[in-house]
Amino acid sequence: MRRAYNSVLTLPQIQKCPQCDEPYRPHRVCPACGFYKGRQILTVEAKA
Ligand SMILES: [Zn+2]
Repeated sequence: MRRAYNSVLTLPQIQKCPQCDEPYRPHRVCPACGFYKGRQILTVEAKA
């Protein structure tokens, strides 16, 4: 009787990062630029 309720809870909510315009999941740190709620959380190596 095991059902994967994750499929019900997981919604395809994708937002656009205001910092880099990359699509990211809300409530998550943007993987592209490392910004979350206007603050830089992760240090993304953007240097060449
Ligand atoms: Zn971003």
